[in-house]
Amino acid sequence: MSLHLFDTATRSLREFVPLRPGAVGMYICGLTVQGEPHIGHVRFAVAFDQLRRWLQLGHGYDVTLIRNVTDIDDKILTKSAEAGVPWWAWAYDFERSTTAALGALGVQPATYEPRAAGHIPEMVELIDELVKRGHAYPAVDGSGDVYFDVRSWPEYGSLTHQSLDDLAPAEDADPGGKRDPRDFALWKAHKPSEPVSASWPTPYGRGRPGWHLECSAMARKYLGDTFDIHGGGIDLRFPHHENEQAQSRAAGLGFARYWLHNGWVTTSGEKMSKSLGNSLVVSQMLKSVRPLVLRYYLGAAHYRSMIEYTPDSIREAEAAVSRIEGFVRRAVEAVGDVTASQTAFPGAFREAMDDDLNVSVALAVLHETVRAGNSALETRDLDAVRQALAAVLRMASVLGIDPTEPHWGTGVQEASPERAALQVLLESALAERAEARREKDFARADAIRAQLSKAGIVIEDTPQGARWTLEGRS
Ligand SMILES: [Zn+2]
Repeated sequence: MSLHLFDTATRSLREFVPLRPGAVGMYICGLTVQGEPHIGHVRFAVAFDQLRRWLQLGHGYDVTLIRNVTDIDDKILTKSAEAGVPWWAWAYDFERSTTAALGALGVQPATYEPRAAGHIPEMVELIDELVKRGHAYPAVDGSGDVYFDVRSWPEYGSLTHQSLDDLAPAEDADPGGKRDPRDFALWKAHKPSEPVSASWPTPYGRGRPGWHLECSAMARKYLGDTFDIHGGGIDLRFPHHENEQAQSRAAGLGFARYWLHNGWVTTSGEKMSKSLGNSLVVSQMLKSVRPLVLRYYLGAAHYRSMIEYTPDSIREAEAAVSRIEGFVRRAVEAVGDVTASQTAFPGAFREAMDDDLNVSVALAVLHETVRAGNSALETRDLDAVRQALAAVLRMASVLGIDPTEPHWGTGVQEASPERAALQVLLESALAERAEARREKDFARADAIRAQLSKAGIVIEDTPQGARWTLEGRS
């Protein structure tokens, strides 16, 4: 089966065929950097990190991922003013918290992260094009705003399957200057109450960009007029994505070919909100929850489903991660090095991931492989252990939860070439010692142990046979 993704625009599962063979362009709406991110804010990044890894590792695509930073907007201006901090310093502070949170969760860095305030000329270019084509106009009351004319674009509403008549007014600007209350702002005129540094000169007057316009301009600059996948949280579908698509297509661009949206993290069935306080802020949570466990938790459900947060669900994630780590640790001790990157994905895993990233089924395959690997360890079927270990690491890398990645600091590491060589030497020494013990030649067995001890190798006899560790390490 080839990769199928659920396209929210057509509301159907569609075979994914990229625009250009071998390459995928992806635009993900990033965060408005106005505060410390909580787990609900970062779920999108984990979801699209899994998609990106599957495109790369499962299908061999070269992925260009653009994730914007909205560093200029109403909330940033209001909050920074209240705090008495320049808006750009406020935005940059929380951009760094966001980067730190995503990095801690093992989200691969974007190919590029453009900031809205750094792309004003590209936005003005798009406005000019829309005005020229009759789809945008400067506010009729002379305020200096520029609006998109929704009635000029018959496709308006098509992304979210809504007819214009059913839509509420756009609440992003004073309706006084609008031809239609549903018209939305492409450009917002500078207000005397706002800092001059938060405005830029344009042919329409000084001002700052409307939120929707930013993404259209930046996606075009880095991915071209038409690109493969546009992603973001489900709450961005309307008005943000509807407006992005309308203004880009009205300007003659093809824009996104597939639209993907991830679900929320909910508490008591509601979208997680700031009012919950700091307890679910990523940096706070990481004081008591291991990053690998939080990553597992946020990526364990299908990306379109809602995740209901409960403390129990974190404990379940910890138990699941421990099962994977425990197997990997014992397997690495038993068989040493494996080259997981050359291993084929189990068929059931591939099938699940190709089915719109069905990670709950994919994880079930991973845990089944862990169980099989544990049984093989008990029977000392080392070939089977080796195969299970390679398959587990390969699947875990797609889901971003490979415990041997040094980033997680789990202490479980894939064997280095040196350690692998040592493993071969030790296996023969330990086999010789076991042989001596069977023959009740305890002097020879002790001599082998003493020699290994001189080299800093500690031998421990367990029911599964002798285990070795380097002195001072566990
Ligand atoms: Zn966007």
